[in-house]
Amino acid sequence: MRVLITGGAGFIGSHLAEELLNRGDMVYVIDDLSTGRLENVEHLMSSPRFNIAVETILNETVMDRLVSECDVIYHLAAAVGVELIVNKPVEVIERNILGTEVVLKLAARYLKDVVITSTSEIYGKSDRVPFKESDDRVLGPTTKNRWSYSSTKAIDEFLGLAYHKERNLGVTIVRLFNTVGPRQTGQYGMVIPRFVVKALRNEPITVYGNGQQIRCFGYVGDVVNGIISLANHKEANGQIFNLGNDQPISILDLAKKIKEKTNSKSEIVFVPYNEAYEEGFEDMSVRIPDLTKIKTMIGYEPKHNLDMILDEVIKYFSHDKLAI
Ligand code: UDP
Repeated sequence: MRVLITGGAGFIGSHLAEELLNRGDMVYVIDDLSTGRLENVEHLMSSPRFNIAVETILNETVMDRLVSECDVIYHLAAAVGVELIVNKPVEVIERNILGTEVVLKLAARYLKDVVITSTSEIYGKSDRVPFKESDDRVLGPTTKNRWSYSSTKAIDEFLGLAYHKERNLGVTIVRLFNTVGPRQTGQYGMVIPRFVVKALRNEPITVYGNGQQIRCFGYVGDVVNGIISLANHKEANGQIFNLGNDQPISILDLAKKIKEKTNSKSEIVFVPYNEAYEEGFEDMSVRIPDLTKIKTMIGYEPKHNLDMILDEVIKYFSHDKLAI
């Protein structure tokens, strides 16, 4: 099979590319390296079945050729990370909406199946956990930048479902919950690589708010297998699936666990949201997926728990990769 991965030099995209190569596919990646890094795919470059175009997905000429030549598109390219959303809202909104528009338009032209990666941010600040795919979304006002990301991804989902309905396009939507593993950088706000690097350096671990906010962390390898399996299930077309792990932990407990695992002397310090992000920043207090739908469709069962994930990430950063 020939697959196209948009955003294939990113953290999740590079793991997806690696797994698809392992399965024998021909892999085409397009990535503008805005948050992706060539370093993420360096080890794949020697494969004759790996091809990369360093280009934006907004370049329709390049995208036209790539889409026409592939069998399936995994659309991961997006502006991600809470810090980026807060600091560069124009870029996030434009890239997320326009990029998906290009992908879907071309997929419809050549009748190619598409998997669109969406996000748990879709649920907004709803506290009715676990979140089910059919749940209502609860968002703050448009004056708060954070909610723009959720809204751009909602437009992507609407557009994907619309192409499925009106043009009979094979579109499957995956809402990714917090995903972690080697190669993820803390540069765009992601909490686990941040805490691990700080702990290894014995620098203060910064817990935002009171640390009682809850998250569930999935291992990138499990997530990537889930995405591929969904792409191979025709019955998943036109549907939305949560994907991740459903074991909750508070951010303060996460900080303590990381400190303990690394034998760190780091102090745990609390930073108000206003200082961490921007005035009036609203966080999601709790985020837990209901995984019933994906379990029923593909028998999804994550194989890595939080301890295993943290051990992997600590090992990764312990090997001279302390720059974030
Ligand atoms: N967080 C934190 N300290 C950090 C980075 C993040 O306390 O240095 C918190 C953040 O406020 C959020 C949680 O950790 O409540 C997860 O943040 P992340 O950006 O990884 O993902 P999110 O779940 O917000 O998309």
